[in-house]
Amino acid sequence: MKSDEHAKGPSLSCSSIRTSTFSSTLMSASTHAARHIIIVGGGIIGCTTAYYLTRHPCFHNSTITLLEASHHGAAQGASGKAGGLVARWAYPKEIVDVSFEEHVKLAKEHGGQDRWGWRFVDVGSWEGRGEVLEQEEDPGNLARKKSLEKTRGLTVDSGTRTQKGLPDDLIWVKEHLTESYSPMARSGATAQVHPYLFTTSMLELAKEKGLQVKIGCAATKLVYSSTNQITSVEYKDSTGSGSITATDVIICAGAWSPNLIPGLPIEGTRAHSVVIRTPPTKPIAPYVLFTEITCIGQGVNTPEIYARPDGTVYACGPGDESPLPDNVDDVVVDSTACQVLLRNVSSISDQLRDGEVEKRQACFLPVSSVGGGPIIGQRSPGLYIATGHTCWGISNAPGTAKAISELVLDGKIRCANLKSLQPSKFF
Ligand SMILES: Cc1cc2nc3c(=O)[nH]c(=O)nc-3n(C[C@H](O)[C@H](O)[C@H](O)COP(=O)(O)OP(=O)(O)OC[C@H]3O[C@@H](n4cnc5c(N)ncnc54)[C@H](O)[C@@H]3O)c2cc1C
Repeated sequence: MKSDEHAKGPSLSCSSIRTSTFSSTLMSASTHAARHIIIVGGGIIGCTTAYYLTRHPCFHNSTITLLEASHHGAAQGASGKAGGLVARWAYPKEIVDVSFEEHVKLAKEHGGQDRWGWRFVDVGSWEGRGEVLEQEEDPGNLARKKSLEKTRGLTVDSGTRTQKGLPDDLIWVKEHLTESYSPMARSGATAQVHPYLFTTSMLELAKEKGLQVKIGCAATKLVYSSTNQITSVEYKDSTGSGSITATDVIICAGAWSPNLIPGLPIEGTRAHSVVIRTPPTKPIAPYVLFTEITCIGQGVNTPEIYARPDGTVYACGPGDESPLPDNVDDVVVDSTACQVLLRNVSSISDQLRDGEVEKRQACFLPVSSVGGGPIIGQRSPGLYIATGHTCWGISNAPGTAKAISELVLDGKIRCANLKSLQPSKFF
């Protein structure tokens, strides 16, 4: 086993101003020592936390290492495969406002529009019928299926575009299949990012300020002193096993977090998504749709559909109960689930039906098994948790990350009141 790769010599420490519940224990351990912070997990929560820690005034005294279990880099789980909606109307309310404001600031400061597809977007609830599509042997081509002409011709006279509430520029869903459309939020209350690009940008920006990253490195055990102070993290990578000294460990391992903290009430829900590149001749106005599509013989399906500024459209389906694999790289994609998703979105839109399917993917959403969440805060001396963000982790990452950076380096969360999200409220 390799040992103590990142131990640092003594220097002045910001930890001397810490005032947390655990501060006396922590201060005795670290007032005169440099901080070595380990972030476990390179999803959006881990990478954004790294970004905020490296921007904190006390960072100069710290070494930060991020461990990511995937061999393919950061954002291989939910954070790279999410829709990317950022909303003022997300939940929980404690973290939403600070997160939204931080998203706006980050986009302004780092050119988010070009770098991670930041833009404000309209969001609406769409209800209507889906056209039945022809069956083809290769489900991979389903997004390019032609609809049966007989159903295509069947229109329901359910009123005019205005009566149905359809905006003038929302022409990529079929008007004659639409029963109703209603905006879900006021203008300016919803934005979007490309979640993979946002997450990897956060990581790159943190690396520019000194973050160390170990890819293909899975934390296997947290090690504590007799006073319950965290002392190191054991890990496995392609060269074997090792250990890194730590004064502080932040667990951002999404659905895998309970592997390191037994009893942590987090579980994973698998969900599938697809990315379709739409024909360049058919521009897609910026809308996110929460749909309810009724298709004869196929019941009601509710895919979410996200137009993206890069000419693609992302769509995701419901969750299932597939068990969590050991590593994010081993998540299994069920081709039938993707096929159903493609069939559903193609059944209401020529643009989606005629597009090229670029991605069929699946990932695990980290969910609190006791309700509520996310869980954000300090568990014990030197141990912090930031996970369980359910369907709002992209939106709520900056607020979570800012709060954790304050907690670790100031000893107190200043940007929001997150008492109701602290670990002791959950287990
Ligand atoms: C279909 C779908 C659509 C979504 N759409 C949206 C949306 O529009 N807006 C929104 O706000 N949210 C959305 N979400 C939710 C969002 O994706 C998640 O809340 C968020 O990505 C969780 O981020 P995370 O960093 O906690 O977890 P993850 O992205 O799962 O990252 C955890 C990382 O930890 C790593 N890891 C695990 N164990 C270890 C270990 N022992 N050692 C080292 N590394 C480890 C994993 O490999 C992984 O990379 C969506 C989710 C899904 C599934």
